[in-house]
Amino acid sequence: MRAWSAPEVPVLPVVGPSVRLHDTASGGPVEVGGPETASLYVCGITPYDATHIGHANTYVAFDLLNRAWRNAGLTVSYAQNVTDVDDPLLERATTVGVDWRELALRETELFRQDMEALRVLPPDDYTGAVESIPLVVALIQRLEDAGAVYRVDDDLYFSVAADDAFGAESNLTREQMLQIFPERGGDPDRPGKKDPLDPLVWRAERPGEPSWDSPWGKGRPGWHIECAAIAREHLGAGFTVQGGGSDLVFPHHEMCAAHAHVVEPGVPFARAYAHAGMVAYDGEKMSKSKGNLVFVSALRNAEIDPMAIRLVLLRHHYRDDWEWTDDLLFDAVDTIAQWRQALSLGRGAPAAPVVERVLAAIADDLDAPGAVAAVQDWVDATLGVAGHLADTSDPAAAAQVSAVLDAALGLSL
Ligand code: ZN
Repeated sequence: MRAWSAPEVPVLPVVGPSVRLHDTASGGPVEVGGPETASLYVCGITPYDATHIGHANTYVAFDLLNRAWRNAGLTVSYAQNVTDVDDPLLERATTVGVDWRELALRETELFRQDMEALRVLPPDDYTGAVESIPLVVALIQRLEDAGAVYRVDDDLYFSVAADDAFGAESNLTREQMLQIFPERGGDPDRPGKKDPLDPLVWRAERPGEPSWDSPWGKGRPGWHIECAAIAREHLGAGFTVQGGGSDLVFPHHEMCAAHAHVVEPGVPFARAYAHAGMVAYDGEKMSKSKGNLVFVSALRNAEIDPMAIRLVLLRHHYRDDWEWTDDLLFDAVDTIAQWRQALSLGRGAPAAPVVERVLAAIADDLDAPGAVAAVQDWVDATLGVAGHLADTSDPAAAAQVSAVLDAALGLSL
């Protein structure tokens, strides 16, 4: 599948520090990537509706990681999926009366445009579930060979008991897992399952639903096996970081890891697992079911500068949960105008310290608020000395600050 187009990113004259990230599995900071390469898998959208701020928050967070690695001189491999066949997509297509393929194409294209507007670097491999069905079938066959798959009626389930490390990604207790599982697509009460937590890997054809041939009859993939198959195909076993929103910690990322562990015992699915916080609006987490969504495309249609949207996201640490408000956006619009004014002077307060502070902040668990504060200090100093710039300031400052704003934070001003 075609990804979106890549923005031009300036190459900085200095090399950024190595990157540390909070790892959900170990519960603390770990150094990720290097010495020469790094690889990233971020779970993509199910294209049944437009990109909302919660999605944008996740993809911008991992865009900071991608940029930090590149600024540290690493070659990055980045893969992302599109779940272009799944229950929510089929349900939505039926509700609005369009073909599910048409809906998926339309919403995926809108997502590409939103990502381009927000200057998110595209993945190297952007892969749909439908085009990955042969990969999924091959992975289920390997799980079956390992004795980790069983039938319930005509559907196939994965046995979580087959993975000795099951639970090590989320660190949840079994009681917590049992509580969360049905809230996030699981079916613990289905009769015939060996363990209530076992996830579906192949759903046999149902009347009126799309299906594909497999050794087990016509059907379609489960969600976890889809990501496990795509990540392993494009990044290999033991890639650097598995990323997504914190609502994917369990069951999604735990199950992806479990599938991979069974086919390649002793090799971790990913070296680290990183999760972005949830964004609320009107007092509750943004979600389709609550109907409290703020769409990136709607803001763009209202002629809001995408760089202001991006700055609102950067002002929150990626692991925090926070609430979107219109005031945050208005503030960011004002700040962007002030920063552009400072950059337009050409000369400014010395650039080297701000460049160093921005790179160090992002390399330290993607501390975007720290990086934004460093830029604000430079802007304040530059505007404060504007009256006698010619004598006291660095003539190349604005160009250098512009470059780090773009390369590290994705803000092109
Ligand atoms: Zn995924």
